[in-house]
Order: sequence, then structure tokens, then C-alpha cells
Amino acid sequence: MISRPHWSAPAKPAGAFPLTEQDLIPVRMLNEFAYCPRLGYLEWVQGEWAENLETKQGTFGHRNVDKPDRKNIPAVTEDHEQAASAPDEVEAQNDPFESPIHARSITLSSDEDGILAKLDLLELSGKQATPVDYKRGAVPEIPEGAWEPERVQICAQGLILRANGYECTEGVIYYIASRRRVVIPLTEGLVSRTRELIAQFRAAAASGICPPPMEDSPKCPRCSLVGICLPDETNLLLHQLEFLDGGEPRTEGFSPAAPRKLLPARHNALPMYIQHQGAFIGKSGDRVTVKLKSKELASVRLLDVSQVCVFGNVMFSAHAIKELTLRNVPIVHLTYGGWFHSMTTGLSHKNVELRIQQYRVADNPGASLSIAKQLIAGKIKNSRTLLRRHLGDREAPVLRHLAEYYKRVQRAESAETLLGLEGMAAKEYFAAFFTLLAGQQEFDVNGRNRRPPRDPVNAVLSFVYSLLTKELTITLNSVGFDPMLGFFHRPRYGRPSLALDLAEEYRPLIADSVTLTAFNNGEVNRDSFIERAGAVAMTDAGRRSVIAAFERRMDTEVTHPIFGYKISYRRILEVQSRLLARHLLGEIPEYPSFVTR
Ligand code: SF4
Repeated sequence: MISRPHWSAPAKPAGAFPLTEQDLIPVRMLNEFAYCPRLGYLEWVQGEWAENLETKQGTFGHRNVDKPDRKNIPAVTEDHEQAASAPDEVEAQNDPFESPIHARSITLSSDEDGILAKLDLLELSGKQATPVDYKRGAVPEIPEGAWEPERVQICAQGLILRANGYECTEGVIYYIASRRRVVIPLTEGLVSRTRELIAQFRAAAASGICPPPMEDSPKCPRCSLVGICLPDETNLLLHQLEFLDGGEPRTEGFSPAAPRKLLPARHNALPMYIQHQGAFIGKSGDRVTVKLKSKELASVRLLDVSQVCVFGNVMFSAHAIKELTLRNVPIVHLTYGGWFHSMTTGLSHKNVELRIQQYRVADNPGASLSIAKQLIAGKIKNSRTLLRRHLGDREAPVLRHLAEYYKRVQRAESAETLLGLEGMAAKEYFAAFFTLLAGQQEFDVNGRNRRPPRDPVNAVLSFVYSLLTKELTITLNSVGFDPMLGFFHRPRYGRPSLALDLAEEYRPLIADSVTLTAFNNGEVNRDSFIERAGAVAMTDAGRRSVIAAFERRMDTEVTHPIFGYKISYRRILEVQSRLLARHLLGEIPEYPSFVTR
């Protein structure tokens, strides 16, 4: 259920992260903007990027032309033709294009049009220059010979060559799958359309407002950013809110269909956990290796690793660190006991715009409270669902009490009231939760306790909460947030407050559920724990069992309550984090919490 928000995301001032006239638009981005204005904005202004099969095929198709050659290309001068023909300066190429000069991977720009391009191939004959752009697909069966974004891109390259003194009357698109050249004349109409798009792109970037997603477009499933853009999801949420508000639909006659299934439903790469003290992590070819005293314990393809989690004292080679960070595979550091304390990653996500807006909202008590209420309401509802499924008594008072707390949370008018309601709801919830554990007498459970945990159930709960916080820190970081600044948990030195905020909704669904499974299925038992001076910790084997249960849960596919498709819990964390980003950036009026039925 989505209700009308009590606040609006603080509007970004136009050009909150302004791109200036000096920022040249890469013509590859102009191609994306012509394909979909939102795509161009997401990639150029927000620095988003994601690979899909088509982008990988494109990279593979460009593998030769992306290698710059060392050829000397003469600048255009009066005696250019003479210079160009000098045998010592340039070398005629014996290739399919039979042009006097072929040069690969040349970067040029035009200040006049404010654009920049890396030309795949430049054909030069005297002052006459022809850009050649390689495309992975086949020649499209359309009269123009190429789609508009590609024609605009090649035209922009031609304009750059003109600005550098060359004569350029046409460009060429070489379609790799068809092995055919298509000549694109630089007509007045194409030049004026190209300049129009450049102006529109620059205006969109300066406005600081991301263009809206397309509606039910066949372009979206092919778009590599579909999982970041969330076009169907954003449109559906907007439509629901407009409908509830009694307003006019954003587009007349538009009625959003159920969102198309988000692919992939789960990630193929998985986390790697290393608990062996003194282990050494290295890189060998395309694999991560784990050794202990020269004995190889594991060797895993880098492609299959999404994160490397190490407990206690584990060492890394410089090569391994470099390769993992370059591939955006975070290295997660936990204490030997399982407390998540730090992370090694590559440079921060480029989406500065999102972080600026996150800080603005965190500094606005009303805006922060509105998001915090959604998160805590979601947590209470999910806690109630877990109890309803396991208690076997639909009339249990705790269910009624949690339903009341849920309503009171939505009416909370201050952060302090919300904190109090969350605490009271948690107390009632845990009193019932501990009764669900098989053999609870054996484990001497006395309610929720921590720092340090004083019984096995609390030891497992604390460990799984730590794993969940680690998971959300990684996800938020990859989406472009600063995980340390939250809206419910106030900032504290070294505390990933935003990860803890988002974790609230998933504690019952993931962490508490894993704990129940681990105990009730006998995956952990007395031998999985050790007790020291009243504090209870897990053994290596106990931690291994809990990690296995946690990973199974993260990989479980669940139906998204609003969008109706099934994706793994790990993907849910990502989708929800992206929805929070869409909300902060002003695209959807409310963050929709994740609640199961
Ligand atoms: S998913 Fe669709 S709306 Fe979103 S950027 Fe790609 S093409 Fe544009």
C-alpha cells in the first residue's frame, strides 16, 4: 500500500551538480541520449554504467580499433596534401578500405560544438577526412541505412573533423555482423538534428533533472542500464501515487502494465568467505587463490566472485588487491568473531549527484523522518508476518499489538517517538520470537542481548545482523550512496548508519529467518559454540553453517510485493536501494518499503 507522502524530497536546485560549457559531451554519450534521453543522462551526468551482452559484444568487436596506433597524423595546413603524402610521415595501409591513410583510435574535440570523440578509424586523403565507426550488429533494414543515434554519432564525429580543419562530407558505419560499410552523408538536415540533440543534452545536464523513463518501450529490455533505471517500476510507482491522489495520469491514456521481469533474477557471482587464520589470498591468471602454508585451499575464477570476506588475520598479495578493486569486487574485513569493521574498494561511485542529495535529505529532519517511518513500518509488518507464519495462532495478542505499532509508526511526528515505538515493538516481537526456537531451554535463551551475546541464539543473531549490514553496505556503496549517513540511525563514528537503516526491513525476513532455520534444522548445536566468561561465540564450524544458511537465504527468490516478479533477496536489496535513490533524486514521491505477505 502506498500512501501520499507527508513531505516532498527537497528540490535540487537547477544545476545542483552543473556541467559547464567546458564539459565536452562525448559523442558516444550523444548516441545514448538520442536512443533515450534518460540513458544519456544516467551515463554522462550520473556516471552510471553496467555491462550486458550487447555492450560486451561491442567491446569485443572494437578490440582492434580500440588499440591506438602510433601513426603520425599531420595537422591540416596549406601544404597538407604534400605533407600527407610524405612516405616517412604516414604509411599507406593495405586494408579493405584502400584509403591512403588509416589511423585508429584518435581522440579529437570541437569547442565550437562542445563535443569530444574517440574515432574508431579515420580515413584521410589529403584534407578529406572520413570517420569510420564500428558497430557490433547487422545493417538495419531501413531506408536511412542506420538508426538515428548512430547517424547522429557519426555526424558529430564529422563536425569534430571539420572543426579541426578537415573537409568531411560523409561518415561510414561499419557493421561487424554484416561486414558491410554504410555511408552516411552529412546532410544539412542531419547536421541540424545533431546540433539540436547536443543543445538538448546540455540543457538536460544543466537542469540537474534526470529525464523520465520511457513507458513500456521495447528499447528498455535491451538497455544495459535497465536494472539501474528501473523504468517499469518507476512508472508503476508514479502511476499508483497519482491514482491515489486523484490526479491525472502523467501521460494521457497511459496505464502501466506489470513491470517486465528484471533480469538476471539472481547474481551468478557469489561471495567468498575465508576464515583460516594466516591464509594468503593471491591471484593466479584469472583466478583468486587461497593458500595456507603453501598448500592451496581454494582457487576460484575471478568472474565468479562478487565479494571477498575475510575473518581476522588473512593476508593479500598486491596483485590480488589491485585486480579485485579494479573489478569492483569489494574486500570485506570482519573480526575473527564476525564483526564487520571495514571494506576495501576501488574509487567511489561516480554518482556525486546522489550523495549530495543524500546529505541534503539527512540534514532535513522532516524528510529523514518520512523515510525512517517507511523503514520502521516495513520492519514491524515483516516481523508480524514472520510470527504469524510460525506461531500457529492467528489470534495471538502479539500480532494485534504489532499491527497497532505499525499504525502508530505511520502517525509518528518526531524521531524520538519513532525510536520509542520501534523499541517497544522490538521487545514484544523478540519475546514471541524466542519461543519459536526448538530446544530453547537447552540454549538458555533470555531474550535479546548483545555486546557480547550471552547465549547461542543471540550469538547467531548478532552474527547474521553483521552479515546483513555488510551486504547492505556493499549494495549501497555500489548504488552510489554514502553508507555511513542514515535517516533513522544518526551518524556515529565508524557506524554504517544507512546500511543499518535499510537492514531494519530485512532483519525479520533474512536474519531472524536464517537464525530460526539454523536452530530448528539442527544446522547448529551445542558444539557450534564456545563460552568464555559469560560471553558466547561461534566456532569456525558453527560460523560456516550459519554462513551457508545465510547465503541460501540471500539466493532464495521471492516475489516482489509491488512489481510481482521473482528475484533473489540479494537482488531485492539492490532494487530497494535503487528505489531509495530514485526517491531522493525526486523521481518517485515516496520510498516504498519492502513487505511480504
Ligand atoms: S531502461 Fe529504458 S528508459 Fe531506462 S535508460 Fe534504458 S532505454 Fe531509457
